[in-house]
Amino acid sequence: MKFFSKKKKDKAKEGSKSLKPAEPRDLSLVLDLMGVGFLVLDKNDRISEVNQSCMKFLEISSTAIGSPGVEVLKAHALVQLFREVKKEGSLVDEINGPISGGLSFLVSLTYDPERQETLIVLLDTTRLHKLESVRRDFISNLSHELRTPVSVIRANSEALIDGALEDKEAAKNFSKAILKNSEKLTYLLSDILNLATIESGEYSLDIQDMNPKNLIEEIVKNISEQFSLVSIKVDVDDKLLVKMDPQAFEQVLTNLLENAAKYSSKDIENVVKIRSRKIGSLVRFEVEDNGIGISPEDRERVFERFFRAQNKNTLSTSGTGLGLSIVKNLVNLMGGSVGNEQAHPEGTIFWFSLNSSN
Ligand code: ADP
Repeated sequence: MKFFSKKKKDKAKEGSKSLKPAEPRDLSLVLDLMGVGFLVLDKNDRISEVNQSCMKFLEISSTAIGSPGVEVLKAHALVQLFREVKKEGSLVDEINGPISGGLSFLVSLTYDPERQETLIVLLDTTRLHKLESVRRDFISNLSHELRTPVSVIRANSEALIDGALEDKEAAKNFSKAILKNSEKLTYLLSDILNLATIESGEYSLDIQDMNPKNLIEEIVKNISEQFSLVSIKVDVDDKLLVKMDPQAFEQVLTNLLENAAKYSSKDIENVVKIRSRKIGSLVRFEVEDNGIGISPEDRERVFERFFRAQNKNTLSTSGTGLGLSIVKNLVNLMGGSVGNEQAHPEGTIFWFSLNSSN
């Protein structure tokens, strides 16, 4: 570090006085740094200026400068807009970019009558649209998930009131259905509350040095009772010592095992394997199934809140798309990481790694 003596410091100040005021910044460069597209069309609607972001958005190169906008721009809605803006003065609209890019933009156009130029600014709104569609899907999934148990509870209670109470056997069945569906509602609400607590930063962990083998066996017993058609094999070292919160660990493994059982193939014997492996200072846990698998495009996205793969096998299985998001959050809170890969010949391996204590 450099220290100035007082005298030198004053001199430095004097020196800075003689500096010229900073040059004005290049606007299109600033917009580039902000990821905003910028394009100018001259009085003949030829491209006279375009920044890097805009070239990327609209799939054009710098050789487009000087060319007529109508010939070069693959976003047809934009061509329509720069024709209209000459009458309107300014316009704001949402458009789709070239089909191959699959992007959408908020575009603002201004016509400068003095210079006879059209200034166009583009903001990439693709991510916002995706989030919005994920939110919409979630609300519709959630309503569906809530509606089913609520209507079963309602129909069964009505049947009891309407006379089924007199028939002991029927009353028992109706009551069982009420119990099962109220449990379903409890799980759903607890998923939502869990995620809200974790994301608000209020989830407090109790990290301990533990061997998780007994806990794993207990979790496997519970899951096996729920999914009797799936056989679960455990291969976990009983000398492992892991830094973990037992409650969070239980939730993580339960969610992964429930998924492995839920997204199983119909026509084969369903086997789920749990393995542990020490890699350097980490312990990696794997849950491998031989189920329906996950397409490469969805592999990362399954950890997003509310995301559910859009195939008929998934959509016919109940779920909200919150389980893996909870898994990721909890593992990260314990200082670890999560991921998944394809299993062979079919199925998926979900893994999470935690810090080893030995
Ligand atoms: P949910 O199961 O409630 O839909 P999750 O967050 O647990 O939510 O999972 C998100 C999505 O990831 C599921 O809807 C499904 O499409 C996919 N998925 C999760 N686990 C598996 C698995 N073991 N095999 C195949 N697909 C899976």
